[in-house]
Amino acid sequence: MPRGIMPRRPSRSGRQDKVASAPTRAKTRIAKTALAPKKPAAKPSKPATKPSRKAAIASKRYNPLAPDRVTEILKRLDDRYPTATCALHHNSAWELLVATILSAQSTDANVNRVTPELFRKYPTVEAFAALMPEQLEPDVRSTGFFRNKSKSVVGAAKKIVADFGGQVPDDMDKLLTLPGVARKTANVVLGSWFKKAEGVVVDTHVHRISRRLELTTQDDPPKIEQDLMRILPRDKWILFSHQIIWHGRKLCIARKPKCADCALENTCHAADKTWSTVEMHKNAKL
Ligand code: SF4
Repeated sequence: MPRGIMPRRPSRSGRQDKVASAPTRAKTRIAKTALAPKKPAAKPSKPATKPSRKAAIASKRYNPLAPDRVTEILKRLDDRYPTATCALHHNSAWELLVATILSAQSTDANVNRVTPELFRKYPTVEAFAALMPEQLEPDVRSTGFFRNKSKSVVGAAKKIVADFGGQVPDDMDKLLTLPGVARKTANVVLGSWFKKAEGVVVDTHVHRISRRLELTTQDDPPKIEQDLMRILPRDKWILFSHQIIWHGRKLCIARKPKCADCALENTCHAADKTWSTVEMHKNAKL
């Protein structure tokens, strides 16, 4: 240290300390201010046109009845079953009506075994109309529920002869007046014989597969038919039923559908699929 210069001694009053400490606190305030996190800028208000989150989710929600999906299903059915037709053997509207009545709770193959001999024995509507139901029972016994079926067939024949000049009517309302004829049977006759699309045939296969494909959530055939009539183009009403019936016999069988071989596989979310590449939906079932 050079001579004459003494180190400064701390003041007893401590005033120098205060003087000395003032800039230090100022520095600290500046440092704190520099380190303090900046307040976030106020958020800009949402543009009025931006869709709400709820609406965005709703728009992405899966819709099994979306026209694109229905069209794709119809296209694949056309590719797979281009010439599907009614499997019941018949040569007239009357024979088709009888075969359809007999097919309830039976198989088409079983009915086709019975009808050739039946129509040989009773070749006209008038021949059936002349019978007592009991006389017909032995001939249709193997199709099951033979007493009711005999009553329906003979009753329908009597009404057709009495009210429609021996001709099966090509009109839904008139067909529904015949004993044993409900919309399914009437739709079969109108669609397959008269080529009139008045409705969609809902048999056991159409019932099962429409539910598996989520084309309906109904369990009652008339309501299923109404749903199908709403979503299918009218020019597909007749063919769709034939295609689905064939599909139900060959692949989409009730207990163990053959999903690995199915052309509809990646459009189908059925809960009871045996193989799947897509999410399965618990409500899409028989
Ligand atoms: S994927 Fe399976 S359940 Fe679905 S339609 Fe085809 S066979 Fe039927």
